[in-house]
Amino acid sequence: MATTPSREEILQAVERHVSRRGAGVALTSAGAADFSWQSVFECRIVRSVERREETHRREKGRQSAPAKRATYTDLDTHPVPPPGDPARTQRFVLVREGTLDELVCEDCEGGRKDCDVCAGRGGQDCPRHVECEVCHGGPDACWECDGTGHPRSRRGRKTAVRPQGAEEPERAACRRCRRPDVACPNCLGERQTRCPVCTGSGTAPCTACKGAKRVRDEACGGTGRFTVWTEGVITRTPHTEETKVSAPPFLRIRTDKWHDRTLNTVDAELPGFLEDEHHKLATRLLIARDGEIRRRVTIRYLPLARIAVRTDPDRVYYAYPGPDDIVVCRRPSKERLTALAWAVLTVIALVTVVALTLLR
Ligand SMILES: [Zn+2]
Ligand SMILES: [Zn+2]
Ligand SMILES: [Zn+2]
Ligand SMILES: [Zn+2]
Ligand SMILES: [Zn+2]
Repeated sequence: MATTPSREEILQAVERHVSRRGAGVALTSAGAADFSWQSVFECRIVRSVERREETHRREKGRQSAPAKRATYTDLDTHPVPPPGDPARTQRFVLVREGTLDELVCEDCEGGRKDCDVCAGRGGQDCPRHVECEVCHGGPDACWECDGTGHPRSRRGRKTAVRPQGAEEPERAACRRCRRPDVACPNCLGERQTRCPVCTGSGTAPCTACKGAKRVRDEACGGTGRFTVWTEGVITRTPHTEETKVSAPPFLRIRTDKWHDRTLNTVDAELPGFLEDEHHKLATRLLIARDGEIRRRVTIRYLPLARIAVRTDPDRVYYAYPGPDDIVVCRRPSKERLTALAWAVLTVIALVTVVALTLLR
């Protein structure tokens, strides 16, 4: 079990560290050093959170799967063993006792029903004629009568009017005005042709059922029945959260003296080695959550002290229990770093001014 060194022990270790570099100081005397704890703390919790949901299921056809599932009578109290490891995901699909049933589909007979599109007639109304696809029912239907049957000559013109510059496609005798070589060869002057879909009958096979009148009922998948049941699903999902107080980023901590503790229950007491601040953080994180059925809490703690020596404001010291002895690290103080930063900025500014002056 790792122990926490006392403030005295740490200050003595820093004294040894400083005197090894030549300058002897007495830090344990009052006012010689600013001492503060900046300990490292990590607390991570994995909760297994359970949800129980009931739904009414209705599936096409005869379903065999629900009959093979375990049953329950009251989902809320139905016992299911909790996961050994809260990080594991679990899902139980159950069937409520006595709810599994088969219903006949009311919209069809044996999976087939009247076609909706043609209302079971098998056919649809269809125009008997369509516009001619060559002359589009326009003036080219017949150069003599425009497809009206009344030649222009009788309306005051003597000869067929051939559009200027038009090539001379083969023309046919007009069925309307009886003139030769004036009519559209496709519709023979009638402007429209027989509908190819219904061949002029006025009724075409239904596009949906192709004339079959009855179609498969998609609602029941063509089976004519449904399987119904009440389903209960119990899921256990891991939720992970953590809180931490990290060491300063420039410190690389190497030690085996971490205080470690694992807690597995909601009422487990927090370890005594935590400082008040960490205790508060952990207490807030570890409040029991809705649906929590299991937890694993891992706590890590390493006492870390920060020491500023009054007579040497340029440096600060960090100390923590190491593998053999207390490890002491020396770092430039914030004041020192700020001073250095200003010095660098000043140099950059001077260089810029000089460079600009010379370039002018
Ligand atoms: Zn049906
Ligand atoms: Zn139809
Ligand atoms: Zn038609
Ligand atoms: Zn004509
Ligand atoms: Zn035509």
